[in-house]
Amino acid sequence: MIVVMEKGVSQEKIEDVIGLLESKGFSLHLSQGVERTIIGVLGDKTQKGDLALEALEGVEKVVPILTPYKLASREMQAEDTIIQIGDVKIGGKDLQVMAGPCAVESREQIMEIAEIVKKGGARIMRGGAYKPRTSPYSFQGLEEKGLQYLAEAREATGILIVSEVMDTRSVEILANYVDILQVGARNMQNFALLKEVAKSNKPVLLKRGLAATIEEWIMAAEYILAGGNKQVILCERGIRTFENYTRNTLDLSVVPIIKHLTHLPIIVDPSHGTGKWRLVNPMAKAAIAAGADGLIIEVHPDPSTALSDGPQSLKPEKYMQLMQELEQMAGIMGRSLKPSVNLHKTGTEG
Ligand code: PEP
Ligand code: MN
Repeated sequence: MIVVMEKGVSQEKIEDVIGLLESKGFSLHLSQGVERTIIGVLGDKTQKGDLALEALEGVEKVVPILTPYKLASREMQAEDTIIQIGDVKIGGKDLQVMAGPCAVESREQIMEIAEIVKKGGARIMRGGAYKPRTSPYSFQGLEEKGLQYLAEAREATGILIVSEVMDTRSVEILANYVDILQVGARNMQNFALLKEVAKSNKPVLLKRGLAATIEEWIMAAEYILAGGNKQVILCERGIRTFENYTRNTLDLSVVPIIKHLTHLPIIVDPSHGTGKWRLVNPMAKAAIAAGADGLIIEVHPDPSTALSDGPQSLKPEKYMQLMQELEQMAGIMGRSLKPSVNLHKTGTEG
């Protein structure tokens, strides 16, 4: 349930309500907005006797949360969650693009693509070092060596890094190298992994499962929030349908649905969502038009030689072109794609 406090209520009265709820063993989630303070209350009410909360001074009303997810819900937090890493904000007015190869293949490839990604204006680079491949005979990733290359590219360019963590035992190692931990579609309901990334202080990019309903997906996010990590970014990457022209069916309607149901930022992956590079540009723009907070896009210096997902990877020039078009889209949508700090500073301002 949530306890909505009266407008302009004193801190003392808020503390009184918190004190009472804590003494009953509830766990609380405080949301102090400009207008109002809302106290989210988690725990089994039936075990804790009657609570006449509405009788307390300063309490306006008590509202049950009827959805199975609580912390992720809009009721719990009316304002959008904005995740900040350095000067990069995910959610809110800014749009963020995460671009880079499907997999880290070599030091040269990563250093080359990092410069391209940065030049195009994206602030975050993607690249898998641990790859979830359908076949055990396919390239599995460079593992820690790959993470080292990513960290070196960040050092050289200032670009942030997102990379996939596949199992509980590698959360710590990933967290040592990357800025955002990616939980892949195949692991969306790996509850042990969700609990483990919840203990990390890194933001988590949670991809939608191949056949996950919206509610199952939000419940997966709820695991991370309930475990103490409030920095969750959702990512729509297409779902399995009967259609096989495309690799997956990109479900763009989830963008406004997620915005309605939750306060979490959501980005879209048109690369895995379609499996075809020709569809990446139009679907990327459609995602922004639908209200997404950003994109994750595969870009490779030479897709024809890529060790994974070449057919859905953009060539550098196509990426550059897309970034220019996205800037126009951002303008139409009242969003900002420009780096918040000028990376190529020439003057002394700022
Ligand atoms: C990826 O982004 O590298 C990836 C494997 O995507 P997904 O988990 O969405 O299939
Ligand atoms: Mn891929």
